[in-house]
Amino acid sequence: MSISENIQQLKATLPETVTLVAVSKTKPIENLQEAYDAGQRIFGENKIQEMESKWEALPKDIQWHMIGHVQTNKVKYMAPFVHLIHAVDSLKLLKEINKQAKKNDRIIQCLLQVKIAEEDTKFGMEAASVAPLLASEEVKDFQNVQIVGLMGMSTFTEDTVQVATEFQKLKKQYDALKTPHNLTTLSMGMSGDYQLAIENGSNMVRVGSKIFGERNYNG
Ligand SMILES: *Cc1c(COP(=O)(O)O)cnc(C)c1O
Repeated sequence: MSISENIQQLKATLPETVTLVAVSKTKPIENLQEAYDAGQRIFGENKIQEMESKWEALPKDIQWHMIGHVQTNKVKYMAPFVHLIHAVDSLKLLKEINKQAKKNDRIIQCLLQVKIAEEDTKFGMEAASVAPLLASEEVKDFQNVQIVGLMGMSTFTEDTVQVATEFQKLKKQYDALKTPHNLTTLSMGMSGDYQLAIENGSNMVRVGSKIFGERNYNG
């Protein structure tokens, strides 16, 4: 199936309340252009330089989502155009995003990445640290950063009960925080588990290989 057929088919199965982020990391511009021509306007990348060169080459009504881990010293390169940063996991990083967004006279939307997987993952905040961070005076004072939700990645396993349990944990935390903190976005689910994620409350899925085909290296 072609990229545009994949998108069409995927969109037909997604509830209207669920936003599709087309994860285009490692894929060439022509592939993104084909997705764009099929109506896709939201793309996810995990490397800042790659996202920047794609942003330069492609139409300017695309929303660029940074879905990968972000190093503080690289924030400046995406601050002029990034729409949503999915994997924010520290106050230090929020501070830098606020600073760079301010320089660009923008407000940058962010999601806090929460550790939900059983396996030991390097990135993401402990669940217990999320509420205190959202409530901290320092975060409330940021004028150029808007935390709009949470993001999580499940354990890489065939065990759907375990994956569902991890998604439910994050959904519960999201529900508890969404009203007091004006959260709107719960980003969970990838090619292998997006249906399960939606069943368990996700309203933003990040789908790569199911649209663009397998990647040549593990980006
Ligand atoms: C690569 C990636 C995806 C997409 O993965 P697929 O399995 O190809 O759909 C989603 N989220 C993050 C954070 C990624 O790095």
